[in-house]
Amino acid sequence: MIGFPPFLSGLKNFTSEPDRDTYFDTMSSNLSNNDRIKILEDKFDSLYLMNLAALELLTDLGISKQQIMDKIEEIDLRDGKKDGKYTKSKNCPSCDRVINGRRPHCLYCGEKVAI
Ligand SMILES: [Zn+2]
Repeated sequence: MIGFPPFLSGLKNFTSEPDRDTYFDTMSSNLSNNDRIKILEDKFDSLYLMNLAALELLTDLGISKQQIMDKIEEIDLRDGKKDGKYTKSKNCPSCDRVINGRRPHCLYCGEKVAI
């Protein structure tokens, strides 16, 4: 099996969905601010590298910059708000409807939802 070189170890568990839960667990633990900054810098470098690779591959496949920008906007708007952020949707534990992951309560039934 081909493994990632050490500087790309963050990619070994790469999936199409960002692992935001692990990220926020890390950020909420008792780390110093310098440690958090280092983690963020490492994440930023990994994400930048992944995006660069994806953009180059998409360009090689004939996907235009406009198509990429349209897709970014489509994904951004999935939570109903164009804010340049990705919010993973989830289902309400009470009514099971798809809800915005950033709201503290379900829009449909009012159930309190963990953010
Ligand atoms: Zn609900």
